[in-house]
Amino acid sequence: MENRNEYVHTVYDALHQIPEPGYKEFKTSEFIESELKKWGYKIHRNVANSTGIIAVLDSNREGPFVGIRADMDALPYQMDGRIEYRHTCGHDAHSSIALAVARSIYSSGVARGKLYFIFQPAEELLTGAKTVISSGLLNDMTHIIGMHIRPYQECLFGQAAPALWHSALARLNIKLTGITAHAGRAHLGANPIETAILIANAINTIKINPQVSSSINITRVNTGDNAENSLPEELNMCIDVRCADNTTMRTLLEELNLRVESCAKITRTKAACTVSCCPAAEYSSDMIDAASRAIEKVLGADGLVEEIHTVGAEDFHYYTKEIGCKAAYVALGANAKPGLHHKEMVFERKALDNGVDIFLEIINTILN
Ligand SMILES: [Zn+2]
Ligand SMILES: [Zn+2]
Repeated sequence: MENRNEYVHTVYDALHQIPEPGYKEFKTSEFIESELKKWGYKIHRNVANSTGIIAVLDSNREGPFVGIRADMDALPYQMDGRIEYRHTCGHDAHSSIALAVARSIYSSGVARGKLYFIFQPAEELLTGAKTVISSGLLNDMTHIIGMHIRPYQECLFGQAAPALWHSALARLNIKLTGITAHAGRAHLGANPIETAILIANAINTIKINPQVSSSINITRVNTGDNAENSLPEELNMCIDVRCADNTTMRTLLEELNLRVESCAKITRTKAACTVSCCPAAEYSSDMIDAASRAIEKVLGADGLVEEIHTVGAEDFHYYTKEIGCKAAYVALGANAKPGLHHKEMVFERKALDNGVDIFLEIINTILN
């Protein structure tokens, strides 16, 4: 039988060859399920009618209910005129690590509580976590641990941080409806482009505490194929909002809504706004402590680096928000280059071994 570290690399090689988009991780989940079956895990497949898999290791004794969460999906790229999927965010690495942990721990078991391995679909779509939660299988989860490989600018191979503080992300899709008219008789119409320009300027009048990092960007404006000499009837715009904490995000969204409505009123257009949100990270200090101790044990005192703050978003934080469990999220130094989501992304493969060992140490702290 391969040793633990050989195994994680074998699995990585297999998963790296079958990159699949969110909710279509068919081959990936089939592979994961077939491995889990070999060791005797109780398996929930097609979780919430999707590609998610949850494997359960129950001590049959009282204790915490701990989830190890890995994501499975890849990203799409235009290559030679067609769409190709690639694992450029390292989700193949995360699934390999979780599977190697599952294999390693099955024979020894856990002394108390329950351990769940959550193989989640569609993280890149930011909806996979909600899908898994809707299955109800995790309603009693008390702790959850996530992990993500990091680019070399953030955390080097041989290092790890006990918390990766993701920002809250909101996307406002705004449909502005005006009244089309000949450009020479604009007084008979209502121009949604003027509404969009007012919104772009009004965003600058939003003032929040500058100590909370945030950003608001208009990422799309589209009026379709209207004639150059007439006012468009409709305009669609998208605003991307990021903010380090959930309370301030709520304020930002209220302020933005007020401005969208006011700008539409002034220009006599109608605004319909749909908002999709992903919450910011909320971690418990004892889980960060457990992660810190595990990193120190595996990588030594020099390997434990400071907590990392990022404007990136992660749907992992729905687990804490909706289930109310305690969380930790390890930023695993992996020298990913040129950067995550880059179509040529590569990373230091030996980081997989560190990921397995850190997870095992954290589980040991909580369940043994
Ligand atoms: Zn990603
Ligand atoms: Zn990712």
